[in-house]
Amino acid sequence: MKNNEKILLAHGGGGKLTHRLLKELIFPAFSNPILAKAEDAAILDLKGKTAFSTDSFVIQPIFFPGGDIGKLAVCGTVNDLAMMGAKPLYLTAACIVEEGLEVSTLEKIIKSMAKASQEAGVKIVGGDLKVVEKNACDKIFINTTGLGSIPKKIDISAENARPGDAVIINGFIGEHAAAIMSARQDYKLKTSIKSDCASLNYLIAGLLAKSGHIHVMRDPTRGGVATTLNEIAQQSNVEIQLEEDQLPISAAVRGFCEILGIDPLYMANEGKVLVFVAQKDSGKILSAMRKHPLGKKAQIIGKVSRGNNPQVLLRTSIGSTRIMDMLTGEQLPRIC
Ligand code: MG
Repeated sequence: MKNNEKILLAHGGGGKLTHRLLKELIFPAFSNPILAKAEDAAILDLKGKTAFSTDSFVIQPIFFPGGDIGKLAVCGTVNDLAMMGAKPLYLTAACIVEEGLEVSTLEKIIKSMAKASQEAGVKIVGGDLKVVEKNACDKIFINTTGLGSIPKKIDISAENARPGDAVIINGFIGEHAAAIMSARQDYKLKTSIKSDCASLNYLIAGLLAKSGHIHVMRDPTRGGVATTLNEIAQQSNVEIQLEEDQLPISAAVRGFCEILGIDPLYMANEGKVLVFVAQKDSGKILSAMRKHPLGKKAQIIGKVSRGNNPQVLLRTSIGSTRIMDMLTGEQLPRIC
C-alpha cells in the first residue's frame, strides 16, 4: 500500500480497489485456507454443541493505551464465546470504514486483529468491508461474529449460580474504562492506566480443567462488575454479597475514580471474567488463576446466598451494607 493513501468509496465498491485491499492486506494478514477460498461463505465442519456470538465495536479513540479497535473486536467476541465454556474457533469480521481514513491506519488495525486472533487460536474465516462517505461514521466500526465448540459436560449459564458459590475475578477492575476516559482527554488527567483488553480463552480452559463445579462465567464489560453481577443475581434468582475490602483495584484506577467521583464497580473491563464456583473448589480456581499471566491479581470478591431478593449487596470497609443496583443510563458512550 502506498504512503499517505486514503480510503476511497471505491475501496468498498467491490471492484479493483476492493480486490487490491483484499489481495495486498486482508488475505495475507488473516491467512488461512478457509478464507483463502474466497467463496461467498466459509464452509465449516462443526460437531456437537456450538456457541455463537456477535458484537459491534465503535470505540473512540480507535487506538488507546493497551489496545486498539481491532484487538478489542477479536478479544471481545473470543471472550463472549469463552464465557460459555466454548473453545473459540472461527470469527468473521465486518468493517465499516469512513471515506478518507488513512490506508496505513486500516492496515495497523487489520494487523492487530490478525495478531490477536493468532494469540487466541481463532481463525478469521470471513468478512466484509464497506466504505461510507465522510462523517457517515467515525473512522471505523467493526463487527465480529464468532463460533466456538462446547465440550460435552460443560454447563455454564448465568442461571446456574447457587447459594454457597464463591465469586472470583481474575484481577484489577475498571482499567479499560479508565484508560479510555483518560485517552479521550475529556478530564485533562494524565494517567498511566492501560486497558486490560485480552483474550481469556486459555485462562478459562485452564480453570475448566481444574474444576467441574464452575457454574457461571461472565465478562464484566459495559456496566462493569456491579451491573454484570446484577444480571446474574436476576437470572439465577440469588443474592450476591460483595466484600469491598477484597475488590482488586489498582492504585492508579482508585486515584482516578476518587478524583472524578466515579465507582470502579460500574466501569467497563475487557479482560476480566467473573467466575462462580462451588465453595469447595474456590481455592483451586483462585490459585489456578493466579498462576496465569492474566490472573495474577485474582481475588475472591464475594459469595452467593439465597437471600430474599435477587440483588447485589456490598459490605463496605466500615461494615455497612449497600445495595449495588445496575448501572442506570450510560456512563460513557463508545467505550467498546
Ligand atoms: Mg459478555
